[in-house]
Amino acid sequence: MAKIIDGKKISAEIKEELKEQTAQLKLAGVEGTLAVIQVGADPASSVYVRNKKKACEYIGIRSQAYELPEETTQKELLDLIGRLNADDAVHGILVQLPVPAHIEEKTIINAISPAKDVDGFHPESVGSLTIGQPGFVSCTPAGIIELLRRSKVKMDGANCVIVGRSNIVGKPMALLMLREHATVTVAHSHTKNLKEICRNADILIVAIGKREFITGDYIKPGAVVIDVGIHRDENNKLSGDVKYDEAEPIASMITPVPGGVGPMTIAMLMHNCVEAMTK
Ligand code: NDP
Repeated sequence: MAKIIDGKKISAEIKEELKEQTAQLKLAGVEGTLAVIQVGADPASSVYVRNKKKACEYIGIRSQAYELPEETTQKELLDLIGRLNADDAVHGILVQLPVPAHIEEKTIINAISPAKDVDGFHPESVGSLTIGQPGFVSCTPAGIIELLRRSKVKMDGANCVIVGRSNIVGKPMALLMLREHATVTVAHSHTKNLKEICRNADILIVAIGKREFITGDYIKPGAVVIDVGIHRDENNKLSGDVKYDEAEPIASMITPVPGGVGPMTIAMLMHNCVEAMTK
């Protein structure tokens, strides 16, 4: 039976540490502000935004909410980002994605000052990660590294297979695992012999967005399995990209869905905000 990697507990520990740090910074006269911009009223985005505001409140950072109508133009959004970039009282800027189709996501990401890019999506942040320079790291993969570190998983020399190569999860995950000295394989929809490749993994990280795609026969006995996927069925029940019931008896450690990777993303966003306050 696998040990459960408890993302709820680990994210709570991180938030406690950050709360302590913001209290210390406050004593030194530094009060953090995160600007959260949402364009349109997509219900899923509204839930994410609400959770981010709650986390800010909990750790002691001010959140400045900008709830803009769906018909906001790209120029209006860029003007707002420009003002926030120039405002010394604002430490972090986050635009909740996706933005409406008439706004180009890439242009918006590129407009945020790299010094305030707490999502870690700006090309400069990604470039810094690639060449091992300091910079903000995308929150979900950074959260996975924390889960592995705090669960004492040996990454140095481990065979790590990452399934998925998105800009926000798979690619930065590969760079972070390289930084931890793992031997990294990145698989995607064109990969041949996926099962065989996965079965070679000491650490298997799955971010493909396909419900319960990874079954027990993809998993090497004793592997550490990290499931990034989130799927909600018609009864509101959550599941991941990994078939948990099959994987759990084979793996040595596994993240559940919910309560694994999910809670870490916001905790690492808060971590990035605190980092932005100390720059
Ligand atoms: P994307 O859709 O952007 O990327 C999916 C990746 O999986 C692509 O690289 C794609 O390959 C690959 N893929 C798709 N099908 C297969 C397949 N059959 N075999 C191998 N590879 C495949 O997804 P994201 O990275 O944004 O998200 C992945 C999952 O993680 C989703 O369920 C999402 O909801 C969840 N998620 C959870 C977060 C959290 O906080 N827990 C945060 C972010 C995402 P190709 O490039 O060739 O198309």
